[in-house]
Amino acid sequence: MKVGRRTIELSKTDKVLFPGDGVTKGDLVEYYEAIGPWMVPYLKQRPLSLERYPDGIDGQQLFNQNAPQYFPDWLETADVDRVNGSGHVRHAVVRDTASLVYLANQACVTPHAWLSRADRVRNPDQLIFDLDPPDGFESARRAAFDLRELLDELGLPTLVKTTGGKGLHIHVPLDRTADFDTARTFAREVAGVLTARYPKRYTIEQRKNARRGRLYLDIMRNAYGQTAVPPYAVRARPGAPVATPLDWSELDDVHPDQHTLRTVLDRLDGTGDPWPRLRGRSLTKPWQRLRTINQ
Ligand code: ATP
Ligand code: MN
Ligand code: MN
Repeated sequence: MKVGRRTIELSKTDKVLFPGDGVTKGDLVEYYEAIGPWMVPYLKQRPLSLERYPDGIDGQQLFNQNAPQYFPDWLETADVDRVNGSGHVRHAVVRDTASLVYLANQACVTPHAWLSRADRVRNPDQLIFDLDPPDGFESARRAAFDLRELLDELGLPTLVKTTGGKGLHIHVPLDRTADFDTARTFAREVAGVLTARYPKRYTIEQRKNARRGRLYLDIMRNAYGQTAVPPYAVRARPGAPVATPLDWSELDDVHPDQHTLRTVLDRLDGTGDPWPRLRGRSLTKPWQRLRTINQ
């Protein structure tokens, strides 16, 4: 198959990867080829970890931090220090649609992306609030609106996406002046204020049994070496759901499994990507505002 300048030898395209849905590896390749123009801008320069299912999503999961040795030379990689400082990890990086197609042919259902880019890998260009509901989707929806209200008070813009899982992710674009520890400290304080505002709704307890029915505001994605599922990635779940950027006006009606490998391209052809391109923000002023709210 030819994608741009690259020729990619596809293998086992008839292999069923999603048994309940009849989605084959060929379907996955086709999806990532078509979504490339929409998805690649969100992946450029980001170290990736690859969640792969050569035998389908009910089979063994492979999870590659390092790009396997046999990957072709043209596939970009990023060498980054290990979290504990001992040695390097050589992550795959997607710079074009051909790279995405290559990974799909490797049965990579979900590429997980860093919150920073390789040229400044210690400074995230986004904050992500990972909203993990204890039960249904309703509490995630409410958390998204409550968090948006607070971040709006701080002067920060927010973007919302479904994860293809049970919850939602809220993104805030950053200007990369803060490192991960600073960004995470900010996110933790924001989550703390929201929890103080609605103590029955939210918790920042990492221990599951201490959450007692409250939605977990997971700010731990905002760390060196951590990932989040990027926009338009497929998830290894029945229905082949896709992590999907939303316009805020869509959140009232959306279902967590609504957008899938089979449907999301039609949506993009119809209305385009709902996320505006926002400039990255500094946390300095929002942090000052947060402290006055806190008092
Ligand atoms: P959901 O909406 O169901 O919570 P999610 O993608 O947010 O879906 P989480 O378990 O909250 O799932 O994890 C958040 C992110 O952290 C993921 O998108 C993924 O990139 C990363 N992550 C979490 N756990 C793992 C893991 N065991 N292996 C690899 N990456 C993980
Ligand atoms: Mn989550
Ligand atoms: Mn989480």
